[in-house]
Amino acid sequence: MFSRTDVLMAGEVLTPGQDGYDEAAATVFAAGTPDLVVRPRDAREVAAALDYARAARLPVSVRSGGHSPAGHSTSDGGMVIDLRYLRGVRIVDRDARRVRVGAGATWGAVAATLQPAGLALTAGDTASVGVGGLTLAGGVGWMVRRYGLAIDAVTGAEVVTADGKVVRASATEHPDLLWALRGGGGNFGVVVSLDFTAQPVAAVHYGAITYRLDALHVPTLIGGWQDWMRASDESLTTALTLVPVMGQPTLAMLRCCYASADPAAAARALEPFRRLAPVAADEIRVVPYAAVLEEARMPPGVQMQVRNALFRSLDDERAMAIAGLFGEGVAVELRSLGGAFGRVPADATAFAHRDATVLLVAGTMLPAGVAPGVADEALAGWPALAAHASGAYTGFLGPATDADVAAAYPGATYQRLAAVKRRYDPGNVFARNHNIRPAGVGRPPMSA
Ligand SMILES: Cc1cc2nc3c(=O)[nH]c(=O)nc-3n(C[C@H](O)[C@H](O)[C@H](O)COP(=O)(O)OP(=O)(O)OC[C@H]3O[C@@H](n4cnc5c(N)ncnc54)[C@H](O)[C@@H]3O)c2cc1C
Repeated sequence: MFSRTDVLMAGEVLTPGQDGYDEAAATVFAAGTPDLVVRPRDAREVAAALDYARAARLPVSVRSGGHSPAGHSTSDGGMVIDLRYLRGVRIVDRDARRVRVGAGATWGAVAATLQPAGLALTAGDTASVGVGGLTLAGGVGWMVRRYGLAIDAVTGAEVVTADGKVVRASATEHPDLLWALRGGGGNFGVVVSLDFTAQPVAAVHYGAITYRLDALHVPTLIGGWQDWMRASDESLTTALTLVPVMGQPTLAMLRCCYASADPAAAARALEPFRRLAPVAADEIRVVPYAAVLEEARMPPGVQMQVRNALFRSLDDERAMAIAGLFGEGVAVELRSLGGAFGRVPADATAFAHRDATVLLVAGTMLPAGVAPGVADEALAGWPALAAHASGAYTGFLGPATDADVAAAYPGATYQRLAAVKRRYDPGNVFARNHNIRPAGVGRPPMSA
């Protein structure tokens, strides 16, 4: 259907039937059958790909690391722009800690490159997650309480906009675009590279405390965890994970990252968490920051359905509801926020929920290809819990309904994003995402 020579100007191209197409079509959460996958090598080739898509009237999906839980970085039909070749990681100025990272780099590669220089960037927990998708969503990493979100370290970006122009966004050039990119997702163009100010971190305390507990004590554990996190040193970020294991005693895992190699300070911060419940294992040790990024492997033949909600606080009723969800076989993770994350003004970036202290992520594994309704059934307890939330995070959002978009972007944030969208993507070329509609076009999601 497509002549390869038409699009060769836009880098490597894969079409159905070619060697490598199936692998190129698939992402972590979706198989995909796009008409073509284009792998540009620079901004000019990204612009050529967009030009071709416009002329051929092809919907566009953009991919960096391919971990979108909504499967947004592939499609059935249309063009996928896969940025895997735009993956350079460069320390521009060691003293000022300025780094420039290609959007197609993985966070594992970023951490490995920065490590020898005694630098790090807090950005998620998984090595193969892409810089582009995680950063544009916000980026809740292992040092979020010490250094904020990944977007809080972003100082600039190179972007190819819908009309094929290459623009630089910074505090002085297109500041509205930079504001929107910091949390507003892939709505505003193809981000080619991002500039960050890295953190002066070489080694951290990292590992898990595993608790043995009776399922009845889960709400108490959640309450105790929340109270101690509120009082805790900001260098400590934790995630409390409850994973249902059939036929086994209930185990809860508290993954901890203390953003320093200082043993006395880490021991002080961790001490209350070592008393929270009977400890089955305690594996916290000093590691290079790059070693904290792990790899998540999805078992073959299953798909994961993911939901999340942000809370200002969890009262007893909510802790009981979370325990109930876990009791129904849903895996639950509670991530601590607060600290530096909470000191960024709500309107400084497009991630507005700075008063949240807990990010709750719930996931369930289902056989691949089940009907959408089955996921809702498996997560039947979720809506009642989410109704008490103060917002949601697009990075961990499987669905992308108007209500999901409204949960992620409160009214004033959405309106401002819609105005930026109208300026940089008035035709909504970048629609395969948690979509912001250009101001003046269609209904805003809050009225859905
Ligand atoms: C195993 C796993 C662990 C995770 N851990 C964390 C975590 O610890 N913290 C956290 O905050 N999030 C985490 N996430 C969520 C993650 O941030 C999102 O899934 C994110 O979208 C992944 O980025 P990606 O580049 O790999 O994804 P992709 O699927 O490539 O991109 C996702 C979407 O972002 C947009 N996009 C991506 N790149 C670009 C670009 N260069 N220009 C314009 N738009 C672009 C597109 O709309 C695309 O559909 C995790 C997800 C998974 C699956």
